[in-house]
Amino acid sequence: MQKKIGDGLFFLLITILFASFKIPPSSPKQNTLRTIVIDAGHGGKDFGAAGKYSYEKNVALAIALKLQTVLQQAMPDVKIVMTRTTDVFDPPPVKANKANAAKGDLFICIHCNSVPKVRHSEVIGHKSETYYTGKGRKKKKHSRQVPIYRTWYTQNPVTGTETYIWAAHKNEDKELAMRENESLYIDSTQQVEDFDADSPEGRILSSLKTQQLFNRSANIALDVEDELEKVGRVVNGARQRQVGIWVLQATAMPSILVETGYISTPSDEDYLNSVNGQQEICECITKAVQKYKTSLETNSFRPVTDSSQ
Ligand SMILES: [Zn+2]
Repeated sequence: MQKKIGDGLFFLLITILFASFKIPPSSPKQNTLRTIVIDAGHGGKDFGAAGKYSYEKNVALAIALKLQTVLQQAMPDVKIVMTRTTDVFDPPPVKANKANAAKGDLFICIHCNSVPKVRHSEVIGHKSETYYTGKGRKKKKHSRQVPIYRTWYTQNPVTGTETYIWAAHKNEDKELAMRENESLYIDSTQQVEDFDADSPEGRILSSLKTQQLFNRSANIALDVEDELEKVGRVVNGARQRQVGIWVLQATAMPSILVETGYISTPSDEDYLNSVNGQQEICECITKAVQKYKTSLETNSFRPVTDSSQ
């Protein structure tokens, strides 16, 4: 019974909200892709992961710059903002601020993955070991046989891509980013003046917007993985990461992080450093962005269930 009343109140509030703030849920101005922010992961003193001969920061920058070109050719009307175009280090908050200040409609982070080598060990013999029991007069000397191990490491053969969106339990952070940047998602200047993001109504609106951001991020994450699979890449899927993607939580826009391959695996490292590989990755991401733009313009995003909630 209580839940019903709660739901009723909630929807009443929402109705009042939309009525009083006059925020059309699908205003034509919002439903287009105007600005894309591309973030090359790491940079400068932050090298990221390492392969045999290359560093993640350089590969990420090369792919990000190429993505800028390929996207701009495919979508000449869209503005593209880069968080970095050279080998510099900016802390994640600085990058998030750049994206928010650019009023991005979509945030794409480019990274490479890596895994440690696989540890193996086997018994190659035994040796005698001395040990004691008791104290003082009762102290007794013993000996026992203990195994001798040989330990070695081999390449982890994992390859392929993952595309991440922020984890559900980080929704509060995303809502904070939304509240702090409320002017980014309320179009009319008059509405911005009237809007108190920290009011209960503001919080509900932030929360609704966050759900929408989740769904939009999930849609493009799934499409990026789909496009990469079509060209024959190993795809490990669209995922929600629990830790370590600060920029995804702090940007007030749909955001994805593409792990373009495993720099620690030689075949992927070669692919990530090759002209053809980089081009292929950028074309796949661009196709997914084009789908995203169409979905925005036709309001046709697929509902995606947040499995981690
Ligand atoms: Zn990285």
